[in-house]
Amino acid sequence: MPPVVYVVDDDTLVTDSLSRALGLETDWTVLPFNDGVQALAAMPRTPPDAVLSDFKMPGMDGLVFLGRVRADHPDAVLMLLTGYADKESAIRAINEVGIWQYVEKPWDLGDLIVKIQQGLERRALVGELRDKNSTLQARLDELERAHDELVRAERLAAVGRVASGLAHEIGNQLALVGYAEAIRDRVVDPEVASFADVIVAAQRRLAALVDEIKDFARGAAAGYVREPGDVAAAVEEATGILRFDGDVKARRVNLELKKRPIGVIHRGKITQVVVNLVRNAAQASPPGGEVDVIVDEHEEGGAMIRVLDRGAGMPADVVARLGEPFFTTKERGSGLGLGISRRVVDEHGGRLEIRSTPGQGTEVVVTLPPIAASKIEP
Ligand code: ADP
Ligand code: MG
Repeated sequence: MPPVVYVVDDDTLVTDSLSRALGLETDWTVLPFNDGVQALAAMPRTPPDAVLSDFKMPGMDGLVFLGRVRADHPDAVLMLLTGYADKESAIRAINEVGIWQYVEKPWDLGDLIVKIQQGLERRALVGELRDKNSTLQARLDELERAHDELVRAERLAAVGRVASGLAHEIGNQLALVGYAEAIRDRVVDPEVASFADVIVAAQRRLAALVDEIKDFARGAAAGYVREPGDVAAAVEEATGILRFDGDVKARRVNLELKKRPIGVIHRGKITQVVVNLVRNAAQASPPGGEVDVIVDEHEEGGAMIRVLDRGAGMPADVVARLGEPFFTTKERGSGLGLGISRRVVDEHGGRLEIRSTPGQGTEVVVTLPPIAASKIEP
């Protein structure tokens, strides 16, 4: 495509002679106009590569005109034709509008063509440079992302290693703390017995935490056997277990079994997922609040478990950190429940989706693939 060059001068003699001369000497598409307004009107359809404009024109003055061109076509090569008397003010104006060159009337045709040509060449170079630059920037962004990802993965792996080491150590010692149960059952002094009771309760909490950490640190490597099973039964088992949970006891759990879908599951793991989700829902709800647990079949045939609460919900910054192990907003939270649940669901080939509105509540939807689509081997 040959360059498009606008020539704008109120003097038809100038536009005629210039467009004829440039047409003969170059392969450019030369468009003559006798005022700026008309030239501007043509530009949306035929964008200019270069614009040569007279300085003093009735109606729209040359610098105003070129300023407008600059705004819409920042890359166009702008040139000003000036009479000798206007030279000073033209030079001053050049810097303001960002004009490539000014050419004095009467012009030397060869010189004029060279100047336009140089402008066009420079423009092409600038464009190329900008392309290269944006490619470079894109690569850089990519690299930064990859680096962040790597750092994150490495950190997670390190956290996992440390956590699993600690969990084993603590677990071993905790078994000894279990003697508190024996003490409680044997002492007669009721005060000592009540102290022992406190220790027993603490030991149970810690043991549960240790189990959770071990589970987290287990990683995706360790497999477990899944077999066709009743998903609703796993959910019922979870709500049964939760009857004894302090937080859940103080809320109402509505279990609704719309269907009894079959999935290829590890029943204990799915139970654990539901326990985690319902406990989170209860903890986010005010005492007396309600948590809905709905078991259904989804369109593609697999199982769907929905856990809904009308509790605190989560602000965006909490949602953004949900994947992070040990991220919790609770005083006694482990920050592992959701991560473990998500992994179990992943291992089942399913999905865990969270929708939350601050102040209104949260819905967690677990979908498991239909039996036909489930790989039995993890
Ligand atoms: P934990 O319950 O030990 O804090 P989780 O991994 O189960 O760890 O949850 C992480 C965080 O996600 C919670 O501390 C809480 O801020 C938020 N969260 C999870 N479920 C809900 C929910 N149903 N409503 C509001 N916030 C939730
Ligand atoms: Mg939790």
